[in-house]
Amino acid sequence: MNKTYILPIEQQELAYKLARLSGRIYSKTVSTIFKLKESKDVWLSKNNMEKLIKLYAKEFGMHSQTKQGAVQQYYTNLKSFFKSMDKADNPKPPYRTRKYNKVIYKKSAIKLKDNNILRLSNGRGATPLKVKTSSLNQRPKYAEIIYHSKEDRYKLHVVVDIENKKIDYDNNKTLAVDLGQIHPMVTFDGEQSLIYNGGKLNSFIRFRNKELAKLQNKMSKCQKYSNRWNKLNRGKKKLLFKSRNKVMDVLQKYTSHLISYCIKNRVSIIAIGDIKGIRENIYFGTKTNQKLHQWVYKKLTDMIEYKAQSVGIKVDYQEESYTSQTCPKCNKRHKPNNRNYNCQCGFSYHRDSIGAINIYRKYLLVSKKQSVKKYTRGNLDKSSRLEGELTSPFGVRYDSNSISCQTEWNSRPFSSQGVSA
Ligand SMILES: [Zn+2]
Repeated sequence: MNKTYILPIEQQELAYKLARLSGRIYSKTVSTIFKLKESKDVWLSKNNMEKLIKLYAKEFGMHSQTKQGAVQQYYTNLKSFFKSMDKADNPKPPYRTRKYNKVIYKKSAIKLKDNNILRLSNGRGATPLKVKTSSLNQRPKYAEIIYHSKEDRYKLHVVVDIENKKIDYDNNKTLAVDLGQIHPMVTFDGEQSLIYNGGKLNSFIRFRNKELAKLQNKMSKCQKYSNRWNKLNRGKKKLLFKSRNKVMDVLQKYTSHLISYCIKNRVSIIAIGDIKGIRENIYFGTKTNQKLHQWVYKKLTDMIEYKAQSVGIKVDYQEESYTSQTCPKCNKRHKPNNRNYNCQCGFSYHRDSIGAINIYRKYLLVSKKQSVKKYTRGNLDKSSRLEGELTSPFGVRYDSNSISCQTEWNSRPFSSQGVSA
């Protein structure tokens, strides 16, 4: 499993110089390609381009693979252009030059010294980049210098291949996950409910929808492919790209937190309330909004599956309808009318956790029928604890500044300051 760490760079001037050189190589690649395409109608091959750049950048204080990296970057962009050629309305090969560009280091240029210094070679005779690190215990396989515009600083992103420890218990301890619109996830594990706050996520989605509507309205008023239309279209792509990143950041942090919680609490099965049920039960408003939320659920479940699998936790789905309206104790159905779900039978709990509690109960019930032996008495006792031993739900809140979702539960392998890539 790849894990990305972001490290501060002290040699800012060197980073700046390298980004500029990388920009020159990238731009030279672009201009050479277009000149040849115009004069001879050929696309220059990557191999030939690398040879050409080797001469062009001979005196650059850069590792040879870093130079190749900048060329490769352009060819990757070009490849995705050829791929999209049949789909897009008016595809243009990537033609923009770059004054600055990211700086790529391959494994052979990276060394991890004993004194916790990462040494990145810029070729023979040139000053290497040295970055302090206390969190790495193995040599990264890849690194990039990337400009962070908010702080106006260059930072080093390093990618490490991490072999996760797999959990070694088979206790059938289950955690149920209820996916929803107000809270993206609410969980229940027999004792505790976690509510993942949806405020930031939903405001990102609202902002995206509002801005997108504005842009589309403006675009509809001008001639397709006119200068203004093209400009708006670029703005639209940028908006979609940025909002996607923001949403993905929330989902990454929440799912990492979830898996950390499961490890800490020795959960071995995650039962997710079936998405089909959600689709039928919740009204999302417009069609676009519905698609977007379905996309969020798909991403969430994909991430949970991927991360759970990497540590050996099993993921299962539980079909369920009306889960948030059914009383977990007496099975009567009614709508809660305030923050708490109060039933005539005496059951009372935070209304937002009811769905997760019911998924949990139903999953244990159904899987018990399928294989009675699998469930030990201990597990069944836990599910019947609903009678009053439940602790209050715990809210998990997203913080865009922290690299992982900070809580007291974060434990290996998701505890370090890395973000799962
Ligand atoms: Zn009841």
